[in-house]
Amino acid sequence: MDSYDFIIVGGGIAGASAGYELAAHARVLVLERESQPGYHSTGRSAALYVQTHGPAVVRALARGAKNFFLNPPAGFAEHPLLTPRGMLIIGRADQAALLDQNFAQSSRHIVGLRRLDANEARGMVPLLNEDYVAGAVLDPEVMDMDVHAIHWGFIRGMRARGGRLAIGAGLQGLERNGSAWTVRTAAGDFAAPVVIDAAGAWCDEVGALAGAGAIGLVPKRRTAFIFDPPPGAGIAGWPSVIDVGEEFYFKPDAGKFLGSPADQTPMEPCDVQPDDFDIALAVERIQRAARIPVTHINRKWAGLRSFVADGSPVVGYDARVEGFFWVAGQGGYGIETSPSMGRLSASLALGRGVPADLAAQGVTEAALSPARFARA
Ligand SMILES: Cc1cc2nc3c(=O)[nH]c(=O)nc-3n(C[C@H](O)[C@H](O)[C@H](O)COP(=O)(O)OP(=O)(O)OC[C@H]3O[C@@H](n4cnc5c(N)ncnc54)[C@H](O)[C@@H]3O)c2cc1C
Repeated sequence: MDSYDFIIVGGGIAGASAGYELAAHARVLVLERESQPGYHSTGRSAALYVQTHGPAVVRALARGAKNFFLNPPAGFAEHPLLTPRGMLIIGRADQAALLDQNFAQSSRHIVGLRRLDANEARGMVPLLNEDYVAGAVLDPEVMDMDVHAIHWGFIRGMRARGGRLAIGAGLQGLERNGSAWTVRTAAGDFAAPVVIDAAGAWCDEVGALAGAGAIGLVPKRRTAFIFDPPPGAGIAGWPSVIDVGEEFYFKPDAGKFLGSPADQTPMEPCDVQPDDFDIALAVERIQRAARIPVTHINRKWAGLRSFVADGSPVVGYDARVEGFFWVAGQGGYGIETSPSMGRLSASLALGRGVPADLAAQGVTEAALSPARFARA
């Protein structure tokens, strides 16, 4: 039986980034059930790097990821990982207080953040409806991410450091024998003292195989679709547009628009598919806010964003099961936080604490610890 120092379950962005960092120090195997490691949430995102949403610790992790994205290690990727996009957070007249709140909360960390009136907002996105948009906040630091390049940068980098990715290797059983796990998979049995659970929506299922208590992970469906912009609209330089109540968003995507109703329907872990009702809802909301007739849907999909009750990720050793480490609950932030999450996961798994630069951003072990569920 092949043995490793760390066996990571899940080859999405969480498992790949942790594997990349750990492979610099230890023998690592990443197990992926599918034939493509980006088949689930990682390959289905809206690809936006945002530093101003989610709980405080998520914002801190996203800020801590910026330098890696802008200056990745030599050979990590052939193209830039981030491209400027900007985000216009729009509101109706009855949402002015929400916009003010959004501006007050984010302006501390985003130097160029601006509160705009309706005319300024329409100056950026001319198709916004005059009778809908009463004001906006512009976050110029939001960027498009090249998710495929980031994900495969981690996987290639891990392999270059001696780590291994096994595909078609769904986990089937975990047995603790003394100081090591026997890890039974569809691709054979392996051994390691530490198993890292980075199985996305399936993290609680993997935890159950290890005999760990559930962290109460809830996968939530989010729908996205691609549609044509009005002819001649010249949208390439437009920012992404999201309503401040988070009921829809749209953004330019390779000459077309990507739209979403920002849905969050609780689901069992599965190969989730889009529901036409959610797409119709998004179309209705987008058309209320902007003169963008949606006549044809080019492509549609859905993915799972998995959250625990407080909305923050779960990173750390299980309080009760020896050698079992959680990397779960990335919600809607798993790509933009991945360089920080990879470094943090590796550092905590190696017993080295929170990396100093992340601690300086406000990341604490306690905010992410699985012990918060043991206490509950
Ligand atoms: C529509 C949408 C828009 C989003 N937009 C953004 C965005 O703009 N920015 C952002 O940062 N994030 C965004 N996200 C969230 C982001 O996609 C997720 O947070 C991230 O992909 C989670 O990564 P993961 O590795 O935890 O999960 P996954 O990518 O799902 O990976 C988990 C892997 O574990 C494998 N696995 C599960 N069980 C087993 C088993 N028993 N054995 C072996 N392998 C197993 C699965 O096959 C899967 O490949 C969005 C998500 C969606 C759906």
